[in-house]
Order: sequence, then C-alpha cells, then structure tokens
Amino acid sequence: MSTTTQRPRVIIIGAGFGGLYAARRLAKEDVDVLLVDRQNFHLFSPLLYQVATSGLDPSEIAYPVRGIFRGKDNVRFLMGEVERINPDRKTIDVRTNGETHPEAYDYLIVAAGSQTHYFGMDQVQQHAFGLKTLAEAVSLRNHLLTSFEKAAWSKDDDYRQALTTMVVVGGGPTGLETAGALYELYEHVLRQEYEQQLGDITGRVIMVELQDHLLDPYPAKLQEAARRQLEGLGVEVILGNGVKEAADDHIVLSDGTVIRTHTLVWAAGVKASPLAEMLDVELQRGGRVPVEPTMEVIGRPDIYVVGDMSYLEDKNGSPYPMLIPVAKQQGITAARNIFNRIEDQPEKAFRYRDRGIMATIGRRRAVAWIYYRIQLTGYLAWLAWLFLHLVTLMGFRNRLNVFVNWVWNYFTYDRSVRIILKPGGVTDSEAQPGSIAMKNGHRSEGVEETLQETVPISEQ
Ligand SMILES: Cc1cc2nc3c(=O)[nH]c(=O)nc-3n(C[C@H](O)[C@H](O)[C@H](O)COP(=O)(O)OP(=O)(O)OC[C@H]3O[C@@H](n4cnc5c(N)ncnc54)[C@H](O)[C@@H]3O)c2cc1C
Repeated sequence: MSTTTQRPRVIIIGAGFGGLYAARRLAKEDVDVLLVDRQNFHLFSPLLYQVATSGLDPSEIAYPVRGIFRGKDNVRFLMGEVERINPDRKTIDVRTNGETHPEAYDYLIVAAGSQTHYFGMDQVQQHAFGLKTLAEAVSLRNHLLTSFEKAAWSKDDDYRQALTTMVVVGGGPTGLETAGALYELYEHVLRQEYEQQLGDITGRVIMVELQDHLLDPYPAKLQEAARRQLEGLGVEVILGNGVKEAADDHIVLSDGTVIRTHTLVWAAGVKASPLAEMLDVELQRGGRVPVEPTMEVIGRPDIYVVGDMSYLEDKNGSPYPMLIPVAKQQGITAARNIFNRIEDQPEKAFRYRDRGIMATIGRRRAVAWIYYRIQLTGYLAWLAWLFLHLVTLMGFRNRLNVFVNWVWNYFTYDRSVRIILKPGGVTDSEAQPGSIAMKNGHRSEGVEETLQETVPISEQ
C-alpha cells in the first residue's frame, strides 16, 4: 500500500491532459509518482469525432501510457478505477483486477476530467450517443454503419429515412465538427455505396442548437461564417430550439417539431467527474472543484485539482474553460507547486497562456480567432486547424498515420475505417446509444456547462 522509499509520494488520478503533463513535470524530480487511470492509454479527444465517422482508427488517437513513461524510473502506472478519495487518511481506493485496495499519498493531483451532461434528461441520455470516450466513438461508428445496412434492405421508406437521418445536438466546436464529418461521410461515401438500394432516400444531417447562434464565445462574424459553411456543406441547422424528448426512432424539439431519426449525438454539455464529490467541498457550476490559484483545493491541503474538474476564475471573473491548454498548463502548475513545497519554496499562481480558439467544419472549412485578434475563415483557418492538431497529437507514429490518412481522405474522399466492430459479438441493443454513457455515468442534475465552449489554439 504505502511508499517503501523516503521520497515524497505523489499520486495523480487521470492520464488525460492535466494528469499527463503533471506526471511529465514530476518525472524530472526526486519524488515517487503513481499515475492511475482506468484506461491504459492517453486519449486525444479533439479527433474522437473522426473515429466516430470512420476517418481514423482508434489507435491513431490513443497512446499507451506506459510507452510515454518508458525509462522514467520514478513514475509507475496503475490501471484501475479510482472509487474513493479519503482526504482524512490521505489515501485513495483503487479497483483493479476485481479488488479494491488503498494507495497512500503525500500529495494528490486529481485530473479525472469530465463526463457528458444530459441535464437530468434521462430519456435523452438513454437514446443519445455521447462523444467523450473512445468506446463511445466506436459505438457510434458501429451504429451509423449498421443503420445504413438496415436501411438498404428495408422496404419501409419512413423507416429508411429515419435510419439515414442523423441529428447532432450542441452548436459548439464538437457538434460542428461532428455534424460536418457526418455529412461528408454520407455525401462522399455512403451515398455512393448505398445509392442502388436507397433510391430516392436522401440522408440528412441536422444540427440543433438551443441558442440563436453557433459557437457561443466567437465574434458574430465567425458565428455567422460557421453557420454558412455548415449549411453550404449540406447540414440543416436549427437554431433557438432544444431537444425535449427522445425515443428509439424520433426526437421532439422544444417547439414540438418531431424529427424521425435513429441517431442522436449529444454534444451539448459536460460536467466534472463524480470524483469531485468525494472531496467533500462545496462544488461550483458544472460540479467543478474550487481551487486556489496554486491549483490546491480550497480547504483541502495537499490535494490539487486540475483540468476540467477544477474551478478557477480569471481576472474577469469567468471560470477558465474546459480545454486542453488549460488542463496541460494547470497540470504543470500543480506539479511545480508540489515540488516547490517539498523544497520549501513559495508556490506560484496559475497563469494561462491563451493563443485563441478555432473550430473546423469539414473539408476546407473552419473558423479561427487567433490571439483573439485575427479572425480567419475557410481554407486558411482549416489549414491552421490541420497543422495544430497534427503537431499536438502524441507520438510520431500517430502523427504520421493521421497525416497519411488525412491526405488519403482528402484526395480520394474515402473513409477507410468503415468497420462494424461489435466486441464480444454484442447484439444490436447493446450497441445502442446511452449504453456506454450509462455505465460510465454518475448523474447530477441541473447544473449547466457547455461542452468546451471554445476550442483553443493549442500549444505544442
Ligand atoms: C469530443 C471532444 C472534443 C474536444 N475537442 C477539444 C479541442 O479540440 N480542443 C480542446 O482544447 N479541448 C477539446 N476538448 C476538451 C478536452 O478534451 C478537455 O478539456 C481535456 O481533455 C481536459 O483534460 P483533463 O486532464 O481534465 O481530463 P481528460 O483529458 O478527460 O482526462 C481524464 C482522465 O481521467 C481518467 N479517469 C476519469 N475518472 C477516473 C477514475 N475514477 N479512475 C481512474 N481514471 C479515471 C480518464 O480515463 C481520463 O484518462 C474536447 C473534448 C471532447 C469530449
């Protein structure tokens, strides 16, 4: 259970962006680090939608954690589910190999991220696909491809139309990217391959957003450009309307409109990991944990929370957004402060280096707001998006594979990963929306948080 050396022991929960960068920083210091994650890989979430839409293979956006820390003797990795944090005993309980055991820490960094938020709408949760994990992305891919297979052989036109209608809820960057990629998958691949059997049935991709504009934090000009580019592609955009009901074969919008569909993708909200509740402090909006500028939890000495789980306001009083550069930089700040404490040096406050935000809409279409000064749209913004996502991917092999795939897709319009993979021979019902989200989900109601309000221009 406890440390066998005299060095201070730091436990990091989560090998996502915050946890990984904290561990990398501490790998250089004279401390023992235990990095715990329920998955054995680090996930590059910005490209999840490309896995869901058959553009990339799952292994191209996931990198094994052990590979990242190979040769770093003071960092150990434990694959397991953290079930409990016990601040009074300075231990965490980890479930691994079917058993739960405690691990003791001197300092704890919690970077367990966030999960999809359905705002208490259980029925929607049951029928929607989330897009937070690799398993969910593969599940959505299976579902899409299976729906077209079913549509091809059905004789009922209404059923065929519903199977080939895809609805994406949430007009933030993830929603836009997903809607754009779904339409391109349909237009350039599925339409051609199913044409003979689908006849007059035309696939539809519909974007639904509650507000009267897309991309909330962007300037009006870029919001409008994003809408035009999305519609120009072929996506139907419905603004100022939310989803109030969902079933297997249709959804109902707030104004009563019924859309017959079997595919509802939910990109409308996230909330902090339920581990936040175990710290026994009063949580903020989105279930996030209030922290000092040093990233230490207010009222919980020796525990630092970083990334999507943390709540810290900037100088204008707005919380830092749930974004990769914030998580990375907060992870580094927490790690450095822990080391400073060990060395009896003063801790430093978090300072966010923000390069701006961008979102892509599909082939040759994007919007970017660089350093919140330069506004780019179209091809130039798209090239900037491609370049930045490629350089921030983990691992040379992944970068090369993704690059080759993108070039291939660009020139051939193909989506090569069109494989229906149902692990363990699962039945259709098991591959249904919500199944994975429900397993992962711990619900809390009523707190609103928009799924990554912005997509930043990431640093390398
Ligand atoms: C589809 C999608 C697209 C996105 N696109 C962008 C983008 O383009 N740009 C951008 O800046 N941001 C984007 N984001 C947001 C970005 O992914 C997050 O802000 C960032 O990952 C937060 O980092 P984190 O370290 O807090 O959490 P994460 O990176 O989510 O890492 C959390 C880790 O904790 C692990 N974990 C959770 N609970 C437990 C537990 N109980 N036990 C063990 N391990 C646990 C998880 O397995 C995971 O590895 C996107 C998010 C999504 C979902």
